[in-house]
Amino acid sequence: MSTQTKDFYRILGVPESAAADEIKKSYRKLAKQYHPDANQNDASAAERFKEISEAYSVLSDDEKRKQYDRMRKLGAFGGLGGYRQGGRPGPGGRGAEGGGFTVDDLDIGGLGDIFGSIFDFGKRRGRPAGPQRGDNIEYQVEIPFRTALRGGTITVTLPVTEDCPACGGTGGKPGTPVNTCPECKGAGTITFGQGGFGVTRPCPNCYGRGKVPAEPCATCHGEGQVRHERTVNVAVPPGVDNGSKLRLSGQGEKGPGGGPPGDLVLTFRVQPDRFFTRDGLDLHCEVHINLAQAVLGSKIRVRTVDSKGVVLKIPPGTQYGRRFRIKGYGVEKAGRRGDQYVRVLVDSPESLTEEQRKQFEEFAEAAGLKH
Ligand SMILES: [Zn+2]
Ligand SMILES: [Zn+2]
Repeated sequence: MSTQTKDFYRILGVPESAAADEIKKSYRKLAKQYHPDANQNDASAAERFKEISEAYSVLSDDEKRKQYDRMRKLGAFGGLGGYRQGGRPGPGGRGAEGGGFTVDDLDIGGLGDIFGSIFDFGKRRGRPAGPQRGDNIEYQVEIPFRTALRGGTITVTLPVTEDCPACGGTGGKPGTPVNTCPECKGAGTITFGQGGFGVTRPCPNCYGRGKVPAEPCATCHGEGQVRHERTVNVAVPPGVDNGSKLRLSGQGEKGPGGGPPGDLVLTFRVQPDRFFTRDGLDLHCEVHINLAQAVLGSKIRVRTVDSKGVVLKIPPGTQYGRRFRIKGYGVEKAGRRGDQYVRVLVDSPESLTEEQRKQFEEFAEAAGLKH
């Protein structure tokens, strides 16, 4: 059961910064296009129409839109901030759509409840009793260029959901009875009517459990789960590149009912560097030299990733754009080490004094250069 949710902005084809007018306009256009009257017996159009209506009912309401935006920022949508998937190991969870988020979910309460409705409904529904392995947490982290190359330790702060320690996840005040939910009659789901379309969702009264405690647990307010942030120190191995993944076993969500924890799967994004670009294990950079250095030869200091820099010999007669290799100063990974390539750019003097110009002309004359 996916716990991802929908991108309402994308559904309506508007930017996040869109004004109310723009949203309305786009909605009207799309609603007309996908309206069931105009697309009879077309299930995909009906589905699309439903999505459009859902998206509009949130984005057209200032308060709901604000809540929704906050969730987006917190990374509930698979953006840069991180995303998670419900218990399915391996890649592919990101950006999956469909599943647990509707207007009705938004109405339940504050931000905490929204998180609850996104992340937990799917999890609770149909989850058998007893100890379970915890969900994996998938998270995307940005790391500095140098850390990616040479390795290092980073600190990652993760939002985690765990069984409430006070009630053990039942949502009931310890020692009080648990009753069948009067809203869904114990089914755990409720069908909402939306303009002729029935949408079945987990029951908001019992959080999809079909049962409600006679007295809610004071710690989790009957939800059965608590959310907090957890800080994890992660040792980044050297040679990490954009998209590299690191699996930290046992660092995911705690298992419900005392089951083993899931894994934490990090995907790295490497911040660009102003001086270096990277190509596999090799690093590339550019340095400027002046005309005299190019013509007569010189020694210049070139920065390397490990600070201080090395001396690079520029031979006399060096051409613009020539590439030099500094062996072994590239990325190190699994015992292999790349090189650093330096491209030299020759700067012409931008202005000359009368005296200098004369001398240059004499030089050109002597060298047989036309000018
Ligand atoms: Zn219920
Ligand atoms: Zn509790």
